[in-house]
Amino acid sequence: MTVRVRIAPSPTGNLHIGTARTAVFNWLFARHHGGKFILRIEDTDQERSRPEYTENILAGLRWLGLNWDEGPFFQTERLHFYKDAIQKLLDQGLAYRCYTTAEELDALRESQKARSEAPRYDNRHRNLTPEQEAAFQAEGRSFVIRFKIDDSREIVWNDLVRGNMAWRGSDLGGDMVIARAGSTGIGQPLYNFAVVIDDMDMQISHVIRGEDHIANTAKQILLYEALGANVPEFAHTPLILNMEGRKLSKRDGVTSISEFAKMGFTAPALANYMTLLGWSPPDSTQEIFTLEEAAQQFSFERVNKAGAKFDWAKLDWLNSQYIHSMPIDKVTDLLMPFWSEAGYKFVGGRERPWLEQLVTLIAPSLTRLTDAVAMSQLFFTDVVEFSDEAKTQLQQDGVGAALQGVLTGLENQAQLEVSDAQGIIKQVVKAQGVKKGLIMRSLRAAFTGEMHGPDLMQSWLLLHEIGLDKPRLENAIAVGK
Ligand code: GLU
Repeated sequence: MTVRVRIAPSPTGNLHIGTARTAVFNWLFARHHGGKFILRIEDTDQERSRPEYTENILAGLRWLGLNWDEGPFFQTERLHFYKDAIQKLLDQGLAYRCYTTAEELDALRESQKARSEAPRYDNRHRNLTPEQEAAFQAEGRSFVIRFKIDDSREIVWNDLVRGNMAWRGSDLGGDMVIARAGSTGIGQPLYNFAVVIDDMDMQISHVIRGEDHIANTAKQILLYEALGANVPEFAHTPLILNMEGRKLSKRDGVTSISEFAKMGFTAPALANYMTLLGWSPPDSTQEIFTLEEAAQQFSFERVNKAGAKFDWAKLDWLNSQYIHSMPIDKVTDLLMPFWSEAGYKFVGGRERPWLEQLVTLIAPSLTRLTDAVAMSQLFFTDVVEFSDEAKTQLQQDGVGAALQGVLTGLENQAQLEVSDAQGIIKQVVKAQGVKKGLIMRSLRAAFTGEMHGPDLMQSWLLLHEIGLDKPRLENAIAVGK
């Protein structure tokens, strides 16, 4: 059998972490079996669907490296297929027009509630006579299309994650609506119907989706059978939970892939992390791998039934590992948009080679790409602000003279190497009889405005290249007076 799987997001919001994780599992399964991964945009809900969400979804999948083999297919371009199939079910007597009004349905629900019964449609229009139908139409009532559900049926399937599953037809809420209200023809087909037609047409072999779709699966199996189609295999993946064990929601902060990107997570780290949300490789000590590596080992046997807890600390750790092992030019590329966003300008000698030196200095301390903004701020401003600690340092006895000595040493020093800088410091220690530690701390205060930060010598060299070391020393001497 050729493996054909799909991800079928609805463009009613940005690419959600849950959808992206489902896409990851589909992709891993397809690649493991040399199959096809298909992208379908389920945009039949025209009120809530937006083109910008479709863009966001496509961009997010591409960013994560989840390349698809076919599509994107859009359900709105396939409406005639759904309507044809509905007509076929109507002709076969497997579906019917239901004229029950919203008020009647409300009254039905109320009476069921009063009897403490679960709400369900009572199939009242299942066997209308042509005369009854004509009378409802004459009243001007619109109709939905309902598919007949046999209450006595037991629907079973062997779920690739959850094992044997069984649903009673009587638990499916009565005959199901497959098309919205229409007054003349068949109205807008609904998700549970369109998805079956699409999965049939696209010859989907395995439906891999979140466990929130389990009840839909029971209904959809009945539709496959009614339409005379093969039923695909199903795999329902566990939900993503927050650390408190509740379903991850907007209240947990970010949920969309584009927000994760803005927060400074890298695509391979996030993709890697998502593979671990519910799956573990055979060697469970292995935590860092590419999607391709995960695909080689992926199987549903190692997907958990239990919800997967979203662990920010673990994601941060993975992200830092990826950043630290990336080539400097790649990290530089990734940092450019964050610096631009912060308003930093690439002028005054801040060109690519200099930027890469800066990245070499800060990359080992980065957890998220966004950390680079604060860490490199001192290199993108002309004048640093001194912290109280730094001011106190600069006001100590002998500091002004020592910094003046460094300034003098810098005269005629066009290029500055670490050895030159060390030579200047040695010279001042010797000439003024001050401790080296005092000079080092004062230089840090002068150059960075703080008492802690990145490697002092490298920072100095970078500032020297853009002509900022001397003005900062002069400024620090003035502050220390
Ligand atoms: N459009 C559905 C969703 O976004 C797809 C469900 C499915 O995979 O069948 O949840």
